[in-house]
Amino acid sequence: MPEYTMLIDGKSVKGSKSTGVINPATGKVFAQVPDCTRAELDQAMEAAQRAYPAWSRDIGARRKVLGEIAAALQQPPEGLARTLTQEQGKPLDKATGEIFGAAMWAQYTASLELPIEVIQNTDQARVEIRRKPLGVVAAITPWNYPMMLAMWKIAPALLAGNTVVIKPSPFTPISTLMLGEIVRDVVPPGVINVVSGGDELGAWMTSHPIPRKLSFTGSIETGKKVAAAAAPDLKRVTLELGGNDAAIVLNDVDLDTVAPKIFWGAFENSGQICSAIKRVYVPEKMYSPMLEKLGELAKGVKVGNGLDAGTQLGPINNKPQFERVTELVEDAKKHGAKIVTGGNRLGKEGYFFEPTIVGGISDGVRLVDEEQFGPALPVIPYKDVDDAVRRANATHYGLSGSVWSKNADQAAEVAAQLECGSAWVNQHLAIAPNLPFGGAKWSGIGVENGPWGLLGFTEIQVVNVSKV
Ligand code: NAD
Repeated sequence: MPEYTMLIDGKSVKGSKSTGVINPATGKVFAQVPDCTRAELDQAMEAAQRAYPAWSRDIGARRKVLGEIAAALQQPPEGLARTLTQEQGKPLDKATGEIFGAAMWAQYTASLELPIEVIQNTDQARVEIRRKPLGVVAAITPWNYPMMLAMWKIAPALLAGNTVVIKPSPFTPISTLMLGEIVRDVVPPGVINVVSGGDELGAWMTSHPIPRKLSFTGSIETGKKVAAAAAPDLKRVTLELGGNDAAIVLNDVDLDTVAPKIFWGAFENSGQICSAIKRVYVPEKMYSPMLEKLGELAKGVKVGNGLDAGTQLGPINNKPQFERVTELVEDAKKHGAKIVTGGNRLGKEGYFFEPTIVGGISDGVRLVDEEQFGPALPVIPYKDVDDAVRRANATHYGLSGSVWSKNADQAAEVAAQLECGSAWVNQHLAIAPNLPFGGAKWSGIGVENGPWGLLGFTEIQVVNVSKV
């Protein structure tokens, strides 16, 4: 069984304890990874702290290193995409795409600037605004896009002059450990440290005295714990949390065009995307045809092991999540929902679930009100657009949302009424390295990506020089 190592102070570290990683397509352990101890975490944190002063001095050198990381990911080691598929479940072409996405993010971030802004330069004073790094960043990621989300943190943290200790999810640690191997000879020792372990390791990181910033992506429940852990030490914190995105379909759409886009906006990565469509509001007169079209699309999808050619959707990533999706669908059935297609587990081994379209359901049922984070989509009829917007907003979630219409201007006005970080028109999941991404309300604090995300890894400083 393959074994992987952590990266601590520029060295590959086997660690004194190990733990297994399950392939969700089989439900069986297929690899061993280190289970980082508190002492090993201390070593990683101390290495990051030692590396910080030199690293924070020269943005030119940092930019060059980021470029090298991007280049290394453009020629990824054989087996990285395959391993990502084995630990996460997604089809191999999607795993390959995620690795190239991480490379693109690193490349883009390397091009950003942190210019000194001169606010005043008169006979009286010269006033500058500078952006300074914070120190050591503790980065914690979830299991849906381990490589991509790791890079969303590592690249801007490093460019801004911070050093990093990163911990992937215990369900998908290997690709991030492999990333550690890839960067080991590219970054100076201690600048990036990769540790693997369970939820407890995350809690040790957020309460550790060394990090000055916590950059967290995961569930709202854990995000609140991270915020609480940050408080006593006033660590800076960015939280990218869960969503319950609504798609609102207006009554002028062409269903044949829109239904496939909505379907893939909901089911990409088997619905395991923070900003996937998680509920669809449809005008009453279009309700039945829309359900029918989405049902047909769901039936036509090839679900299977991500390593098999032609697979479009893989399994749910892990057992607790598989059980949660099952529970929400069963609860919907109990509340009288109509399962248009799917609704059950698929096969005997692994965590496969049929792509599921649910009608006859409304707000107040858990599948609509909560984040399912899996391949089951509730479709809800509405009478007037104001009511649909009100229902879309009647939640603590506020990550993203979309409005669909032939009249893009009108749709944009409706989209602007959504209480969320990204409001899309005639598209969903339009995420790009140069656009800020983050949640309103309980979906997060702060943003990632673009210059705005970069600034989140800095502290503002006013340098005010009197000339009199
Ligand atoms: P999770 O909160 O269970 O775990 C996320 C990470 O936090 C893991 O690495 C975990 O080990 C760690 N962790 C657990 N307890 C901790 C603690 N007490 N202190 C510190 N770290 C701890 O989330 P998950 O199940 O891995 O991911 C799914 C969730 O992530 C969904 O809600 C999804 O919407 C969200 N998500 C959000 C975004 C975004 O950008 N907004 C992106 C992807 C996923």
